[in-house]
Amino acid sequence: MNEVRPRTKPSSRGSVTRRRADPARTRAPFISKSKFLWGLQCPKLLWHAYNAKHLIPEPDTQQQAVFDQGHAVGELARQLFSDGIEIGKGMDDFDGILAASKMAVRQCRPLYEAAFAFNGGYARADILNPVDNDQWDLIEVKSTTSVKDIHLHDLAFQTYVFNGAGLKIRRCILAHINPEFVSHGAIDSREFFVQEEVTTPVAELSRGVEAKLEAMSGTIRQPQHPDIQIGPHCDKPYRCPLHDGCWRFLPEANVTQLYRGGAKGFGLLRDGIADLKDIPDDFALTGNQEIQRRAAKTGQPYVDKPALAAFLNQFRYPISFLDFETLATAIPLFDGVKPFQQVPFQFSLHVVPSPNGKLAHDQFLAAGTADPRPEFMRRLRDALAERGSVVAFNAQFELARLEESCDAMPQFRPWLKNVESRAVDLLPPFRGFRYYHPKQNGSASMKAVLPALTGKGYDDLAIQEGGAASLEFLRVTFGDVTEEERRRVRRQLEEYCGRDTEGMLWIVGALRKLIGV
Ligand code: SF4
Repeated sequence: MNEVRPRTKPSSRGSVTRRRADPARTRAPFISKSKFLWGLQCPKLLWHAYNAKHLIPEPDTQQQAVFDQGHAVGELARQLFSDGIEIGKGMDDFDGILAASKMAVRQCRPLYEAAFAFNGGYARADILNPVDNDQWDLIEVKSTTSVKDIHLHDLAFQTYVFNGAGLKIRRCILAHINPEFVSHGAIDSREFFVQEEVTTPVAELSRGVEAKLEAMSGTIRQPQHPDIQIGPHCDKPYRCPLHDGCWRFLPEANVTQLYRGGAKGFGLLRDGIADLKDIPDDFALTGNQEIQRRAAKTGQPYVDKPALAAFLNQFRYPISFLDFETLATAIPLFDGVKPFQQVPFQFSLHVVPSPNGKLAHDQFLAAGTADPRPEFMRRLRDALAERGSVVAFNAQFELARLEESCDAMPQFRPWLKNVESRAVDLLPPFRGFRYYHPKQNGSASMKAVLPALTGKGYDDLAIQEGGAASLEFLRVTFGDVTEEERRRVRRQLEEYCGRDTEGMLWIVGALRKLIGV
């Protein structure tokens, strides 16, 4: 594997590999639906899928959790078209699955995962439902709450393959999650899903599939991967699995980090400017971008002392530093919860009672599989001081969770009103560039600010971010784990959430020191 590294003028195309395709291969293999969608996102990604698959990383734990959730939603959707035949379960024989699908069509029952191939394309349908006159409705199930463009391309590919293979597709339906669904008891799939007919836009897109397949087939046969510049497409519609490799050539402080830079950063890259400090003085930047450039050049933070002093001046004792951890699942786990609703299961609270008072800590981590919110709200109400500032990093998140919990438990609303009136958000000084350290690399998140400003961070912790905390909580709460494992992970969760609130305390302390108050 030959990495392309920037020389005098850095390449904005990055590199994963320049491997040669297998010369023994004389014909492109079938292009599956998922590879077709990869091909739409980037020909370089498509090329790797067929010629250097080993360089594409396996999904990480969080991506796998998203896939698993998608499978669970897919299973639920089958209830919409019950008494169906599942095709190819446990089979990994390509031709066998095609043959089984062809046979199953004759039975005129709903088919799950039926597979067909045509003209170099291969697709499996979530659900095919037989309708009048030997026709079929094609149902694609998505664990999103609306139809996205990529879903239409997905269905267009399937329609092209299925029609070509001899099925008559009457309608295309996108079964996505109903965003207004609220769970009460067993999930009723007819209420949980919205079935949106998308036959017309899919038919239009389907007309272009043949040409795209042909072009993709040509890409796959190339001896080397296409030279594609990194850009916004690397994260749209999904983060590309080759992202890390392609973006590796960028310096740590680079032009793609320009605050709200959009196309500006990629334009600079095309001109051979990758490092923030190499942006020419006469290049037009916004005020915040200019702060970034200057910080990169000098290595020194930007500090707006009057603005920070005004910000800190609003703090009132006792100062409560508060942070939540939440879980959000496509299929709600508890009654009264919507799909993907963030349900708080943990809080940490550090309290500074007075300027020289002793720091106190309180926390809650839900135990058991019941809805954690009633106990969470009671414990928080009891733990939180009745006066003084309530500080959170991106406080809107915490307040929104409390607001949603009050929808289910209105008795807490007067208390919440009081909390809202005392809330102080620690994010705005950083998002607004009143303080900016070059090591933040364009980010105002707590994970970027804390180490840049204080030199402390999360590296010593087993759980280092909220997504992992949520997955670990779900695993040890609902999964089959030993009591010892459960206790170990719960300790790690407490350490992680505790670091968030302690970290806020350190941030405020560092800001105070900077401006001398
Ligand atoms: S990271 Fe970007 S350029 Fe690289 S393969 Fe993926 S989409 Fe293409």
